[in-house]
Amino acid sequence: MIRCETVIFEDVGTTPRKPLSERQKLALHEKQGGICPLCNQPMLPGDKLTDEHLRALGLGGSNAPDNRAMVHTPCALAKTNGPGGDLARIAKAKAQKCASLGFKTQKGRPLQGAPFPKAEPQCRASKPLTKTRLPPRPIYVER
Ligand SMILES: [Zn+2]
Repeated sequence: MIRCETVIFEDVGTTPRKPLSERQKLALHEKQGGICPLCNQPMLPGDKLTDEHLRALGLGGSNAPDNRAMVHTPCALAKTNGPGGDLARIAKAKAQKCASLGFKTQKGRPLQGAPFPKAEPQCRASKPLTKTRLPPRPIYVER
C-alpha cells in the first residue's frame, strides 16, 4: 500500500463528525421503518445499533439527515472496516490525491491510526516443565 506523508494529518479533507441526539436517532429509526439499510433486515429490540453516515465523511459525505441512518452495529463495522470498506476506500482516495498532486509517497509503511495492541505475554507454569523418567515397571514372573 502506498501512503502519503500528508495522511498523518487526521483532518485532511474530512467533515467534522456531528453526533445525533437520542431523539434524532429515534426519528431516523422510525423513518426507516425499523429496517437496517445495509442488510435490509429488521432492527429488533436488543440489537446493538449505530448511527451511520451512508456516505462516509472521509469520502465527502455530510452530516445532513439524508446521509444518516440507524443500522446494526455489526453492519456498520463491516461497512467501515471490512475489505473494500470505507477506511480502505478513504486511504486509497487520499493516496490517489497525493499522487495526482505529486506529493512524495512512502511504500511499505504500516498503516497510521489505531494498530492492534500488543498482546500480553501468556501465563506460564509456575516452574519450568522437565521431562522425568518413570521408574521401571516391576516384572512379574509366574511360578
Ligand atoms: Zn444490518
